Amino acid sequence: MARPDDRPLRRLPQLTPRKATLERCVFCPKLCRSACPVSNAEPRETLTPWGKMSMAYFVANESVPLSPSFAEPAWACTGCFGCRDHCDHHNDVAGTLFAARSALAQAGELPAPARRVLDRFTERAAALGKVAADPRVGPSVDASARVAVLVGCEHARRGTEGGADTVRATARLVGGKVALVDVCCGAPLLYAGDHDGFVRQGARIAEALEGRERVVVGDAGCAAALRVHHAAAGVTMPAPVEHFSELAARELGKLGRLDGALGDGPVRWHDPCQLGRGLGVYEAPRQVLARVLGRAPDEFERRRADGRCSGAGGLLPLTMPDVARGIAEERLADHERSGGGTVVTACASSLRSFQTRGARVLDLATVVLRALDAADGARDRQTATTGDGA
Ligand code: SF4
Ligand code: SF4
Repeated sequence: MARPDDRPLRRLPQLTPRKATLERCVFCPKLCRSACPVSNAEPRETLTPWGKMSMAYFVANESVPLSPSFAEPAWACTGCFGCRDHCDHHNDVAGTLFAARSALAQAGELPAPARRVLDRFTERAAALGKVAADPRVGPSVDASARVAVLVGCEHARRGTEGGADTVRATARLVGGKVALVDVCCGAPLLYAGDHDGFVRQGARIAEALEGRERVVVGDAGCAAALRVHHAAAGVTMPAPVEHFSELAARELGKLGRLDGALGDGPVRWHDPCQLGRGLGVYEAPRQVLARVLGRAPDEFERRRADGRCSGAGGLLPLTMPDVARGIAEERLADHERSGGGTVVTACASSLRSFQTRGARVLDLATVVLRALDAADGARDRQTATTGDGA
């Protein structure tokens, strides 16, 4: 039977394929509300997954005006998939809110910070072209190599240790040089509200991957953009896409022990939302850390599928900086309650957010590179010992 008020989404017709997904939330008793980092940090009904989906739905079917107060909740989402994993329908809230951002932007409602991201996208993405010039990575790179590496533009534009170490460690794990992908995955376009631009970027990156054996991705956000969001948009990659942690977990035998080299105290794994709930990769990074530590890594109270967001995704630090800060501080408070020490992660945005707040944080690639050095050192010592004894 048709709903009593089954109006078409006339104002935002681009959301028609998402109508059933939106309605699931609109008519739901908000079973996922405790999972949303945004409405937990700022407890307003409009910021719950239900509220954000309802606002987009009611703008689309012309029940409320097209105005900033009804449009902007669509940008109040980190894309963490927390609600989806707490929903009996496994409802795709993040993907639908990203689609709503695009439809709202086309209708003329685009928050100023998101507009700035779109205006500066070309400049931001160009940073990937500079990675090859980094003296730390140059010796690991050969444009004709079969294995490609996508560092991610968050690493690239800041010239981070984690970005350089992703390239160097991947080359050593695969036993040869690697080619650098200098095309952005397009995630900033998706998050800002340019879905068509995101799809075009997917076509560009697919072209860049033609002929490669596979691509290893350093930033969990880029890996999810390729494997989840581009796949949902119908863009398929011509080579398998794997996250760096999955490669490292396959090559555990190459990693040495890092006794005390990661600092005093606990070493705790922060599940990036895009790697854990996004790609379902929970074991690989834990296997890597267990190998290099000689014990299981320390854990947050909230971990794996229940792991909490860092607040750094979906452009939230730009659209709602105070809320993003509150989410990050809550995650670091969990870290301190759990015993403090070093956080290891594989999300460039989380890493930066935590470091900005004074936490000791390392990218998983940095840990792996040190473990590769440790294995080499152990081999050299063994050779020297054997030589002495000869
Ligand atoms: S995501 Fe699921 S649980 Fe949450 S409001 Fe929507 S339908 Fe309800
Ligand atoms: S994806 Fe995360 S931030 Fe977005 S509405 Fe769901 S729980 Fe909230």
